Amino acid sequence: MFDYTTFGLKFGNFAIIAHHSKKDLYLRRLLLFSLLFFNILHGFTLTDRRVEDKVWHSGETFLGFLEENMLPLRLYYDLDDEDEKITSDIRTNTLYQILRNEDYEIEQVLIPLNEELQIHIFKDLEGKYQLAIEPIRYQTRERKLALKLHHIFSKDIVKATDNFLLSVELEQLYRKVFDFKRLKKGDRLAVLYREKIRLGKFYGTQQVHAALLESHGKKYYFFLNPKDGKYYDEKGKTKEKDGFIVPCKYRRISSVFTKKRWHPILRKYRAHHGIDYAGAIGTPIRAAYGGKVIFAGRKGGYGNTVVIKHKGGYKTLYAHLQRYKVFRGKRVKKGEVIGYLGNTGLSTGPHLHFGLSLNNVWINPARKIVFTKGLSGKERKNFMKAIAKYREELEKLEAEASVQIIVEEDENSTTAKTKSETREKRNG
Ligand SMILES: [Zn+2]
Repeated sequence: MFDYTTFGLKFGNFAIIAHHSKKDLYLRRLLLFSLLFFNILHGFTLTDRRVEDKVWHSGETFLGFLEENMLPLRLYYDLDDEDEKITSDIRTNTLYQILRNEDYEIEQVLIPLNEELQIHIFKDLEGKYQLAIEPIRYQTRERKLALKLHHIFSKDIVKATDNFLLSVELEQLYRKVFDFKRLKKGDRLAVLYREKIRLGKFYGTQQVHAALLESHGKKYYFFLNPKDGKYYDEKGKTKEKDGFIVPCKYRRISSVFTKKRWHPILRKYRAHHGIDYAGAIGTPIRAAYGGKVIFAGRKGGYGNTVVIKHKGGYKTLYAHLQRYKVFRGKRVKKGEVIGYLGNTGLSTGPHLHFGLSLNNVWINPARKIVFTKGLSGKERKNFMKAIAKYREELEKLEAEASVQIIVEEDENSTTAKTKSETREKRNG
């Protein structure tokens, strides 16, 4: 018999697994409810259907996937270049679902492309397979964390929130300004952040709005500047010294990073997992940071591609190269030439597609590339205005942390707004 609970859990889990053992019963109900809701949205019904949880294997291609499952190859060939390219971004070990009917025919397929978008294959009213790239639904909730530290920075955070990725993010932020060996019992931490919830579980990555660590009587602040997605202290300064460099000379940025963007002309959702630097063919491409080459070769729509693994869980990807001059296993220094700008693979003109991932999740390279030492002028003025309320809230929270651990939840959980409702109606 088909286990709906398992389906729900697995489905929400391709990104992150969190433990909620105590809330098991509540969760089961929630999952069943979410699943029903999900099924209604996608036309799944709960009778005699079979859902298979599958894992996207290393080296698996979307075309290969269609072939193997005897799905029409036009689903791939009908995609435009950008969408075709995005199919080579499906991450190894991604969990995806195939729903079959009583005759073991494929009814629907859901393959996540990132934490915002998924490929949805379904049958239309005439029984013909169709493909749509649509948003993944999740909820967000605003949270406040106030914590008196006892043991180890990250351990205390996980204990209070159950959110491992939050602890990783805060540790990465604070490592730049604070030596964790100096942390002592009773130091205090206050954090304002937003987390995503899907089917009752943490999902994707959280967003830290502001954080305050007080140690040895000194306060260390971090505030997110929504304008550039980077963190600054209470004076608008940045402590980033050791960032990634822009990998080549370019004429212009022809495409920016986006996990989910509604394209009003094409009338579809788009993702772009990197920055496109348009430039002249043959322009030297440099390693954005030191590391080890883990891939050098052809990679689907990306054409000639180099992937470099760096410390701290980062990887950089350089695509559409005219040619590359490194090999797998080679160690490269920051700034070392690894190849030349080209137009290989699915490319509409000479450019470098530069991708950056952290723990195998694509992130915006612009966030990690250091251009300035801090904000100034009007930018700084806007930033100072924006952080005022966060600062006040943080300090209030931090004062409370001296007494106890507080994890507050915003009552008004909101569902992510999407434009898919109308699309779905259209799709039937
Ligand atoms: Zn690109």
